[in-house]
Amino acid sequence: MGSSSETPKQQTQSSGHGHGRRLVLFPVPLQGHINPMLQLANILHSKAGFSITVIHTKFNSPDQSKYPHFKFQPIPDRFLENELASTTDVISLLTVHNVYCVAPFRDCLAGLLSNVSEEPIACLITDALWHFTQAVADSFKLPRIVLRTSSVSSFIASTIFPLLRKKGYLPKQDSQLAAPVPELPPLRVKDIPTIGADIPGDLDELIEGMIKETKASSGLIWNSFTELEQPALATLQQDFGIPVFPIGPFHKNFPASSSSLLTQDQSSISWLDKQAPKSVIYVSFGSIAAMDETEFLEMAWGLANSMQPFLWVVRPGIIRGSEWIEPLPKGFTEAVGERGHIVKWAPQQDVLTHPATGGFWTHNGWNSTLESICEGVPMICSPCFGDQMVNARYVSHVWRVGVQLENGLERGEVEKAIRRLMVEKEGEAMRQRIMCMKESVNLCLKQGGSSYQSLESLISYMLSF
Ligand code: UDP
Repeated sequence: MGSSSETPKQQTQSSGHGHGRRLVLFPVPLQGHINPMLQLANILHSKAGFSITVIHTKFNSPDQSKYPHFKFQPIPDRFLENELASTTDVISLLTVHNVYCVAPFRDCLAGLLSNVSEEPIACLITDALWHFTQAVADSFKLPRIVLRTSSVSSFIASTIFPLLRKKGYLPKQDSQLAAPVPELPPLRVKDIPTIGADIPGDLDELIEGMIKETKASSGLIWNSFTELEQPALATLQQDFGIPVFPIGPFHKNFPASSSSLLTQDQSSISWLDKQAPKSVIYVSFGSIAAMDETEFLEMAWGLANSMQPFLWVVRPGIIRGSEWIEPLPKGFTEAVGERGHIVKWAPQQDVLTHPATGGFWTHNGWNSTLESICEGVPMICSPCFGDQMVNARYVSHVWRVGVQLENGLERGEVEKAIRRLMVEKEGEAMRQRIMCMKESVNLCLKQGGSSYQSLESLISYMLSF
């Protein structure tokens, strides 16, 4: 259990109007969901003075030593009974836990609500995928605010799955993949954010639960900002009828995030220190995506043949059937020499702010996409599943700050994409556009900016409960 004392830094930042009220947060225990939830907790604690309690599963529990100013309450879970071997397992595990966690979560919340020695609880904030928490919150007459950790645009796409099925776009047919979806411009059939076999099943049910219980909630927070996703936010406001708070990008309120579940290899930074400005392509596919050995080898040869320096995160287990980088052919490391650096996990935010980083080859998880935009780093997009496909389409065709590898991982295409991004004029134009986006991030967070104002509204709203 952490203590509730504030660190000196947080005391000076706090404007204090939330003092005397507590917020209870419940993240989904995956890296891309834990990071924004804990960043949000930090924002609401340091800028508004709320006390914070984080309810968490034992699986992937946050490192409490990094948050001495928060309290933590574990609840039992069954994640470890299954291996998170594939993304479809994640969907079925979340489905199971939306049932399994009801009783432990209710008991935990009852305990917190009855604890008179602590501040009264203003509201509950949970991940949108924890849809069961709305009924629990209702049973205690406690307002629930939802955090959705994806982009708004991908969320909108998932809200119309039933329509897309009715119109015959799903399941996706090979012959239709490049066809436009007029209901969701500029998405094509291939960009619809499905996961695994796109037959009706767990994913549709999880999304249905998420939408229904988000509509029933007291409000919706986004790690995004108005200038970035104006049309999607307008659609959302019209369709959902609840207060919406785009207050992102969360992580820019603080120095680099400390909620990493894996150890970040700092040799990434000392290696970058030796590289020329904007010369390095940083490669990472996040915390869940996986690939076959053949795809891994195509990536390796594409990077080697590009002749560009690269920093490559190969997460242990990312190659199906391998522990780490054993499939790399003998001689690869020697051939690449000092030009390439491979790590198991990197301090990604620091890598993206480093002057040597010139491009990001990413799976377009929303956190990675946003982190890249915030640092003005153009992207090569290799989306793997779900919302990543929508994000990649927006990066390449709406914001035009990246190139998408459209035909999977093939060494020649990889080499070509790296050249387009890092060497050719086209890449320079993308860099200029993303630098403008970086500037709009700075403005939206400043006093009077859109996210700043939205955060002010959120804080007043929470204090009105
Ligand atoms: N990340 C990191 N080190 C790495 C790779 C990723 O710290 O080597 C962080 C990254 O900064 C981001 C998160 O892990 O905040 C990944 O979230 P994202 O939504 O991009 O992808 P997911 O892991 O959910 O697929």
